[in-house]
Amino acid sequence: MRYDRRTFITTSSMAVAGTAIARLPLWAQAPAQTPPPAVAKFEDVRRNVGIFTGRGGTIGWLITPEAVVLVDSQFPDTATLCLEGVKSRSKRQIDLLINTHHHGDHTAGNIVFKPETAHILAHENVPALQKKSAEERGNADQQAYADQTFGETWDQDIGHERLQLRHYGPGHTGGDAVVTFAKANVVHMGDLVFRARHPFVDRPGGASVRNWLTTLEQVVKAHEKDTIYIFGHAREGLGVSGTSADLTAMHDYFSAVLDYVQKGIAAGQSRDAIIALTALPKFEDYPNSPATALAGVLGVAYDELTQK
Ligand SMILES: [Zn+2]
Repeated sequence: MRYDRRTFITTSSMAVAGTAIARLPLWAQAPAQTPPPAVAKFEDVRRNVGIFTGRGGTIGWLITPEAVVLVDSQFPDTATLCLEGVKSRSKRQIDLLINTHHHGDHTAGNIVFKPETAHILAHENVPALQKKSAEERGNADQQAYADQTFGETWDQDIGHERLQLRHYGPGHTGGDAVVTFAKANVVHMGDLVFRARHPFVDRPGGASVRNWLTTLEQVVKAHEKDTIYIFGHAREGLGVSGTSADLTAMHDYFSAVLDYVQKGIAAGQSRDAIIALTALPKFEDYPNSPATALAGVLGVAYDELTQK
């Protein structure tokens, strides 16, 4: 699909009307994926940083005459729409594509961006996790991997922006990056924030509920009061950007999870009994969708607390 350049320029903050998103086969879909929205959309956030929402994890972007940086790549179909939009806003080659983690709804579009991108950057655990996951899904031949990686920190001035990547240890996966556009004061959290909904905790992919909770605290401390955060996913109807209050809410959510599971273990309850809960105390309004969403989180917390 191709779009007139003016379409993106004149509707930069609005929906690109009629951009239907085709569904991909199951292999391309990550767990805990949000339902597909009807349209793909570019939105400004602050100081040349913005978001693109299509299907899958939110794409973040920095577009200036001196630098073009993307954060995450969704799926090939929406990555194609995103690329068209980026090209309509800048003639520059993409300087950098960052993957916040390895999940397919954040990396499957890498293959679309790769020919137009100087480098792909991710945490050092991402390429192996992405490869393993792709092999399990039978789509290893459709992957593009990071050619640059980092361990704990990565800092670089790019154009008039300062990029800072941080890895706080295991969280949503074992290879999460928090991406800060320091001058814009905007932070892309990847899937370290599922706004106001049950998250997916990828324990086989190296996740940790306990360290995820700590990470959220540390990220808030490392940033300003008026920092704007971009989230990988949000409850349907809620926006995919927000404030530190959203991180604190998620921290409190994990506290409630750990508290509930710890009490169940202390009372001698079985794993099955503990994960049978359908509404978490204090977070009863979180939609249990899919029906295994809360059970998944509780199960990981149980395994972590009992070291299974
Ligand atoms: Zn994810």
